[in-house]
Order: sequence, then structure tokens, then C-alpha cells
Amino acid sequence: MRSGQDLELVHLTKRYGDTVAVRDVNYVFHNGTYVCLLGPSGCGKSTTLRMIAGHESVSDGSIVLDGLDIAHLPPAKRGTAMMFQSYALFPHLSVRDNVAFSLRMKGVDKASRHKAADEMLELVHMTSFAQRLPAQLSGGQQQRVALARALVTKPRVLLLDEPLSALDPFLRIKVRAELKRLQRELGITFIHVTHGQDEALALADEIVVMNNAVIEQAGAARDVWTAPKTEFVARFMGGHNVISLDGAKVALRADEVVLGDHGLSATVTSVEYQGAHVAMTSMTEAGEEVLALVPEGTFYANPKNPGDAVSLAWDEGRAHRLQA
Ligand code: ADP
Ligand code: MG
Repeated sequence: MRSGQDLELVHLTKRYGDTVAVRDVNYVFHNGTYVCLLGPSGCGKSTTLRMIAGHESVSDGSIVLDGLDIAHLPPAKRGTAMMFQSYALFPHLSVRDNVAFSLRMKGVDKASRHKAADEMLELVHMTSFAQRLPAQLSGGQQQRVALARALVTKPRVLLLDEPLSALDPFLRIKVRAELKRLQRELGITFIHVTHGQDEALALADEIVVMNNAVIEQAGAARDVWTAPKTEFVARFMGGHNVISLDGAKVALRADEVVLGDHGLSATVTSVEYQGAHVAMTSMTEAGEEVLALVPEGTFYANPKNPGDAVSLAWDEGRAHRLQA
């Protein structure tokens, strides 16, 4: 185990007056993993990240990196670096000088800091833009410069707060792949805040789902998606139905619902063609809505229309019970 190099949150709490933004959070970020903090707006993701970065004070608890409590160290002394939600670059400085800025503050000589900046620009494929001003770059390019600027300090942990939110959908997917590549190449821990479950699934080795200032569930991305523990996680991660069976709530994957001759009786309420799948929504007799993602070939072999009666079935053991 490389546990000595992990980043550990111990009883981490942040209060703003009567508001508890982060409540007694305990978590170990294993060295070299890509972790996404995922949850709805206001659940405490940014506050957690800012406490790790040192841009927000801690009300209670500690932040341990490499066995050392860094919770009261200034940001530049922690071994972390943050890429901000709005990655504002210094408009009057060239790309190279933007990237070299923190090294200049540390008193690194010009030749050395330019060399370090050029290495980082190469890493993010921005070498040919070194002399430009930020205003002469596209949004995606500015974002790469901001990444290089954060990485130039050689952090152990890179903190990213909704880094893709300002990009259009096409660029978002492209930059997302770039982030993953960078993390693999550098082998450092990335902690990436997002409210998008698709983004978290695409990027994360581990997903930490937050809700109301606490961690609701955490684990390997596939484990969180395939085995949500609570109704909140099942609904937030998507792709699942939450229905009542035998007096308990269960989660059932939409792609595991089949239309059979026996099963839960329901009435079709909508049919949506999605290419590979047809999304068929129906209402059970108990008044619960169930989504079935049916492979398009299967669906059109025996198509259904709104108003039709159907029987919803699934393989034994596929509906799993949720914690109350
Ligand atoms: P998220 O990033 O998940 O959207 P935040 O961490 O920004 O959520 O906020 C968590 C909670 O803390 C929210 O209720 C928010 O209003 C509150 N909060 C955040 N920053 C401050 C602040 N500086 N002063 C008071 N309340 C704050
Ligand atoms: Mg936030």
C-alpha cells in the first residue's frame, strides 16, 4: 500500500453561521486516482475542495496528506493546486508568463521558470501558443493554459472545480478525454467536482456522491452506478427506476426491464425512439412510473403504444433493496 501518500479527510466540517456546508466528512483519496465529487448544487462540493486547497478555513477536522495535517498550511505549501471554475488568466500576460506566474512569485529565475512553463505547455499541447495573450485564445485553449498553470507547481493533488462547465458540449467531451489522459500520464491524484453524472462516470476511478453536506455513497464508479445504496443515489446517477416491492423500495436498472407475459402490470405512457434503445415509460397500478430501455430490435418486433397494457419483468435478483 502507498497509504502514506494518500489524502485523507478526517471529520472535516465547515460551518457558515448556522449553515453546515460540509458535515463530518471522512474519506481517503488514494494516491494516483481520479476521483469525482458528484452531487447537486449546494451539497458542499466546492466547499470541500476549497478547504483541501486552503482557500477556505476548516471549522473542524483535519486534512492529511503524506501523513501531515495540512489543514492550516497556506495554499502554496500544501502540495495541492487548484484549477478554478472560472479559469481567469492574467489578461496582460502571455500564455507562457501566465503558466510561469506562480514560479515567479516563488523567486524562480526567468530561464528556469520559462523552461518549466514550456514543459507544461507541451503537456497540454499548447506549445505554439506560448507568446499569445489569453484574449487571443478560444475557451478550450484558455482552459488548457489554466491547467498548465496549476500543474507547473508539481502538485501531488490537482483540484478541479467544474472545469468543463464553461465549454460547449462538443469541446467538453474532448477536454474530458484530455483530463483523463493527463491524469494517467502524471499519475497524481485528481479531485474533480461536477454535478454531471455522465461526466463522473466517464472520468472517475472513484465517485464520491454528496448530498446535504455529507457523503451519501462512495466507491468505484461502476459499483456506485450498478449498486446505488439509497433512493437519492439511484435517482441522481440515473438509469434506474425506484419502485416499491413487498413494502420496500428497490432500484431496478431501466435496461434490465423486459416486456413479458407475466410480471408487474402497467400501462404505457410514452414511447421514445433513441436509436439503439427505445425508452418506454409506463405507469404501474400503484401509480409508480417505470422506465424500460428496450433494445430497438426487440421493441419493434412487438411494438407498444401509449395506452397499451404491458407486463414488466426482470431477472431474479436484479431489483435490489435500497436503504430507507
Ligand atoms: P456546491 O459546490 O456543491 O454547489 P457549495 O460548497 O458551494 O456547494 O455550498 C454548500 C453550502 O454552503 C450551500 O448551502 C452554500 O449556500 C453555502 N455556502 C458556500 N459558501 C458560503 C459562504 N462563503 N458563506 C455562506 N454560505 C456559504
Ligand atoms: Mg460548486
